[in-house]
Amino acid sequence: MFKKGSKIYSIFNNKCPKCNEGNFFEDNNPLHLKKVMKMGSHCTNCGFKYEIEPSFFYGAMYVSYGLTVGFSIITFIILYLLGLELLSIFIGIIIGLVLFTPITLRLARLIYINIFIGYDPNYKNLDIIKSVDKNELL
Ligand SMILES: [Zn+2]
Repeated sequence: MFKKGSKIYSIFNNKCPKCNEGNFFEDNNPLHLKKVMKMGSHCTNCGFKYEIEPSFFYGAMYVSYGLTVGFSIITFIILYLLGLELLSIFIGIIIGLVLFTPITLRLARLIYINIFIGYDPNYKNLDIIKSVDKNELL
């Protein structure tokens, strides 16, 4: 749907923001709950270090907040138009937020890193790629 090289491609296909080739999270399926947040320290294709600085992904909380507020507003509008009472709408929003938590968490991290990192098809972190080949890392 979206071309390789765009941030949208990286976000919705779980790809490294730098090369758009390696997987960002180890498992592509967000419904495998035991591995939902498992990610390597570096991209397996280009060697890009995902955690740019210590505790980098704490900032993804703000993206996650925005996503959940947006999701809640959309859910509210849909349920309100269906004619439900406010208490039923509130319960529906809570259930929806809990069910979509794995997707929200992953999207938040992918969106957050894509804010800072752009696509660069020529990027190669050779030190990391060599050490991965020798199984020194990961
Ligand atoms: Zn990469």
